[in-house]
Amino acid sequence: MNKNFYNFLDLLKIESIKQEKKINLIASENYASLSSIIYSSSCFINKYTEGYPFNRYYSGCKIFDIFENKAIIESQVLFSSFFSNVQPHSGTQANAAAYQSLINKDDKILSLDLKSGGHLSHGFKKNFSGNFYNVVNYCLDKNNLLNNNNIEKVIKYEKPSLLILGYSSYQNIVEWDFFKKISKKNNIKILSDISHISGLICSGLIQNPINFSDVVTTTTHKTLRGIKGGIILSNNKKIWNKINSGLFPGQQGGCISNHIIGKYISFKEANSYEFINYTKQILINSKIMLKTFLYRGYNSSSDETLNHMFLIKINNECSSYIEKILEKNGILLNKNFFPKDSKSSKKPSAIRIGLSSCTTRKMKNLEVELIANYICDLIEKKNNFIKLDIIILCKKFPIYK
Ligand SMILES: *Cc1c(COP(=O)(O)O)cnc(C)c1O
Repeated sequence: MNKNFYNFLDLLKIESIKQEKKINLIASENYASLSSIIYSSSCFINKYTEGYPFNRYYSGCKIFDIFENKAIIESQVLFSSFFSNVQPHSGTQANAAAYQSLINKDDKILSLDLKSGGHLSHGFKKNFSGNFYNVVNYCLDKNNLLNNNNIEKVIKYEKPSLLILGYSSYQNIVEWDFFKKISKKNNIKILSDISHISGLICSGLIQNPINFSDVVTTTTHKTLRGIKGGIILSNNKKIWNKINSGLFPGQQGGCISNHIIGKYISFKEANSYEFINYTKQILINSKIMLKTFLYRGYNSSSDETLNHMFLIKINNECSSYIEKILEKNGILLNKNFFPKDSKSSKKPSAIRIGLSSCTTRKMKNLEVELIANYICDLIEKKNNFIKLDIIILCKKFPIYK
């Protein structure tokens, strides 16, 4: 074996030790199970499987057909949907295919603005979505919450073709039934992007938007705790064929066959009582951690979190500096816009905190309260010995035993 190969192995080892030794509060991350990692690194890496089950462009796909069908069915059971496409490489590709199946180029999309918690693929100028479609935004109200009546007014005024619901940094919930009614009255389509909260939805802890939307998209690697990827779900029969052709050949060539197998394992794992208990604990941990920050005098975008994450406003320090100090001490999270932020994306006014990863490590009330206090102490420069405490804590809660 050549020398470089050893270096690469060393690098992998360093990364895996880092993951074990640091507390991960990045709201969009989680830890996939060892078996889903092994299946997603299987011999299907070598197999081209362009097309859909029993309708492929290459020979030799028989075994893969079985796996893809299993993945489709498992995801349909998970989200009570009649249609599922499990091939998107990522959440962004899932959204691109969804747009293609729902609207035409230059049609009007109405989405939440990026600073309030929208996603790049919901119409950001430098993303394809902002380029191919005519994008207008709705905003949060003065309490940093979605205001149904305000959004209805914007819909009546702007007359969009598509309304996007579902966000990257919003700690409250969406009243999907309200928007379903509005969409009927105003003849608009609804795309629900549940990338962040899909794990909480399939467990029944947050309302499932499948019957209130034309299309639902999600990533598989956030609260759903699977390997990286995306899926598209729908109960609107009229567009199923359009979604499939929107993804392939519309957005992608061959799918990442090995990842489809990994996703199947992830869906199976999420279809269990153990997973429901896991997601219940995420919600408890999220509430406890936010409460601890509020008790220490910090502000969030609202005083409550109804999902796995929340924002903490950073007043006197720079959020990017805080992110670095925390990383040095073994805590990973990201700087983030606060609603109506006046600062730039390099130094926004908040940090975003998510509890899915800590909860996967089986951390509970005591641990998350402790971590919140560590973060406050670090921001306030009150304790210099936190780094070692974090390593000891991580050792007690290994990711992969
Ligand atoms: C994470 C996320 C996505 C997709 O992300 P990818 O990095 O493309 O997988 C899409 N929408 C929302 C709301 C997200 O939070």
